Amino acid sequence: MRLSLNDIPSSGRVVSFQVAPEALEGALSGCEGAKPQSELFAEVEISRTAGRGLVVKGRMGTTLTLTCARCLESHPYRVDREFQYHLVHPEAGLEGEVELKEDELDVAFFDGRVIDLGFAMTQELNLALPYRFLCSEGCKGLCPRCGKDLSRGCECGAEESSAPLSSLKSLVLNR
Ligand SMILES: [Zn+2]
Ligand SMILES: [Zn+2]
Repeated sequence: MRLSLNDIPSSGRVVSFQVAPEALEGALSGCEGAKPQSELFAEVEISRTAGRGLVVKGRMGTTLTLTCARCLESHPYRVDREFQYHLVHPEAGLEGEVELKEDELDVAFFDGRVIDLGFAMTQELNLALPYRFLCSEGCKGLCPRCGKDLSRGCECGAEESSAPLSSLKSLVLNR
């Protein structure tokens, strides 16, 4: 989704668009096992600032498949994110415009003529990825001996867990 600056009236503009799953794959490359599960949906409001710059704000969402770092199972992962950018016109500095803080510069999405909203959304998606995904905080991972999912139990005996049962038995017998 690319918009020309000429398509943005002074009153601003609201656009809704989708990004196809294939176009999201690049943004997920930093997270092992992550795959797009659906389109990314975005609604974005673009307004002009006094000095030829733009404010882009909106919300985007999609569903990914992520792989648990412990048990290696795939799980759906919902991304829902709000964002706001202040896009500065590349020539703004030359015109003695307001001095801007560095974090307000996002020239990668805006070359002064075209705003690349699709690219902005893939950047947002990249930021939304967890550093390390776990299916649950209590995920026990895989058995180091047989490789089975310990949350479902394994029979190789590497994790012996008969202790709680035997104490329950003695409790019953003592009555
Ligand atoms: Zn897990
Ligand atoms: Zn085992």
